[in-house]
Amino acid sequence: MKKISEILEVKLPTFSFEFFPPKTSEGEQKLELSIQKLKPLQPDFVSITYGAGGSTRIKTNEWVSKIQNQYDLVSMAHLTCVGSTKEELKEIILNHKDQNIKNIMALRGDPPKDSTSFVAVNGGFSYAYQLIEFIKKEFNDSFSIGAACYPEKHVEAKSLEEDIYYLKKKVDSGVDFLITQLFFDNDKFYHFRDLAYKNGIKVPIIAGIMPITAYKQIERFTQMANCTIPDKLLKSLNEFQNKEEDLIKKSIEFSVMQCEDLLKNDVAGIHFYTLNQSDATYQILKQIYDILKISISL
Ligand code: FAD
Repeated sequence: MKKISEILEVKLPTFSFEFFPPKTSEGEQKLELSIQKLKPLQPDFVSITYGAGGSTRIKTNEWVSKIQNQYDLVSMAHLTCVGSTKEELKEIILNHKDQNIKNIMALRGDPPKDSTSFVAVNGGFSYAYQLIEFIKKEFNDSFSIGAACYPEKHVEAKSLEEDIYYLKKKVDSGVDFLITQLFFDNDKFYHFRDLAYKNGIKVPIIAGIMPITAYKQIERFTQMANCTIPDKLLKSLNEFQNKEEDLIKKSIEFSVMQCEDLLKNDVAGIHFYTLNQSDATYQILKQIYDILKISISL
């Protein structure tokens, strides 16, 4: 299996999908169907998240292996520092290595729901950069390492400048590429990217994109992901609050426009947060391929 860093050396922009490990057999079937529907779009890689609180330790590894072996897609396992000691993290990473997994998205993870600050377990890590240093020290270059970044700053950071200061430290610890938190306002992304470049961050920055497929997601995105929804988009979503089909159509239209603009402005890649659903992502990427005149056999 290829490393994502090798792909990024020869192909920009990349297109990729993010899935989460399902908890039920119904969810598993749904994910299988989504992968089958999206595979013909020939993603450069797919990634599998690591459940909050480390709840999907084994499942993440199983799904990444399955997607690599059964679907022959380059895959990446997310990993967080939440609830694990160094020894436990080492065991998880060893298991990834044994399964021929070559890509790790190294994250700190969120604090528990009832707490505002992150507390490391005894013998664990407080920040993502420590996990990255650890992977490099213990496993040399066995993995290509991705990390998270935030165009509208991480919720705990005092300012975007402070967040980028620490981001540079994180990148220097061995990051090959960054994937952003979801965002809808491209100007905020361009401003962030300019600042990152000015601060010496040179790795590819892949944009995280998520179409809104339900009105109730809006509150979650703005509060949890700390992202702004442009007035124009919000206005049109408000209009279709009770008409789901129309809302999804508008949202897809917006995402296509957003991606087109990002591509015109040399984005390194587009990573779709699919929520294990295939329809919206499929429609958006298919339209982008048509615009870019990329032909695929479906
Ligand atoms: P860090 O890079 O450690 O940063 C966390 C905070 O600490 C920031 O405010 C930063 O400015 C600050 N900081 C960093 N270094 C220092 C330092 N040396 N001193 C002082 N302050 C510092 N969560 C999951 O649970 N599972 C997932 O699979 C998952 N996947 C994600 C994928 C992407 C693309 C993104 C954007 C996020 C993902 N998350 C996931 C969420 C992520 O775990 C949270 O956003 C978490 O709060 C921060 O993780 P991080 O790796 O960015 O942390």
